[in-house]
Amino acid sequence: MPSYDTIVIGSGPAGLTAAIYATRANLKTLVIAGQVAGGQLMLTSEVENYPGFPNGVLGPELMELWRKQAERFKADFADEDVTKVDFRTWPFRVWVGEQMHDGRAVIIATGANAKYLNLPNEQRLKGRGVSACAVCDGFFFRSLDVVVVGGGDTAMEDSLFLSKLCKTVTIVHRRNEFRASKIMQDRAFRTANIRVIWDSEVVDVLGEQKVEGVRAKNLRTGETTDLKAQGLFLAIGHAPATNIFKGQLDLAKDYIVLKPHDGYQTSTTVDGVFAAGDVHDHRYRQAVTAAGFGCMAALDAEKWLQGHESGRESAGVP
Ligand code: NAP
Repeated sequence: MPSYDTIVIGSGPAGLTAAIYATRANLKTLVIAGQVAGGQLMLTSEVENYPGFPNGVLGPELMELWRKQAERFKADFADEDVTKVDFRTWPFRVWVGEQMHDGRAVIIATGANAKYLNLPNEQRLKGRGVSACAVCDGFFFRSLDVVVVGGGDTAMEDSLFLSKLCKTVTIVHRRNEFRASKIMQDRAFRTANIRVIWDSEVVDVLGEQKVEGVRAKNLRTGETTDLKAQGLFLAIGHAPATNIFKGQLDLAKDYIVLKPHDGYQTSTTVDGVFAAGDVHDHRYRQAVTAAGFGCMAALDAEKWLQGHESGRESAGVP
């Protein structure tokens, strides 16, 4: 197998931006795009907050353009999932099934996936009223009634954001208190068009072609209530896609820990392995910030490789 200067794992905004910058820096680059390539934007409909598209752009269309741009600069693509990595040897080794690839630098951009309740009708109506991104999709629910599930800071933040656009916001939470910070809770409680249904979970999503309501079940009484709503927003956390990296580099709450050093802002705890986007960033989680991190990681990888032409030992890496 050919050896690569850079292996990019992931093909969302962070991974593809890293690929564009790496290939344009003349680094031989492999993008292991994943079986479900393109990241979270593949699950959204219209993206209206990505700069450069005054009339908005469909998420999948944006990712197709992004990929074409990376391919234009001759990145190799493997549309499969990484099955194993070994960052203890150098060049680093990355496996896709039985096939092993080696790379002198690695950029991890596997992203994070919003958690869903995994109800059949919720999955069926994703993108048709069911969303896990209030900032991306809230605008489509202007003057409508929406339900938010969750009791953390994201649920509060999403509810406050939606309350400015929507007619009503109903938070359905499974306990009788929020885990969100007090200040965020207070803001939600003080907002006239936000109400809370406590001790309840959403057990079904109603509607044929689009969301028309949700069925909530009171966990204390067992009673179910149908709430009329055109939108259902999940705010029950994100899970970074880091399973295959466990034991290879440091993680905190499953997110990759960055260890900036010598100007390499995107370095992980393994020298020569960089991370970009939602796989380490649980705060901003936007396509545009992920793209920025992808750019930074490629610039870091390029510089790191320049300084480590002669190999692993000179990099001070065991
Ligand atoms: P989180 O703090 O883990 O909260 C997730 C919420 O979803 C919890 O209330 C949890 O209920 C609920 N939940 C989880 N699984 C559920 C399920 N299957 N069904 C129903 N409810 C479920 O996640 P987050 O709100 O996304 O926040 C993640 C991190 O980012 C936190 O550290 C948070 O402070 C931070 N954050 C900060 C800000 C800010 O400061 N502005 C904004 C957003 C996020 P339980 O409470 O019963 O467990």
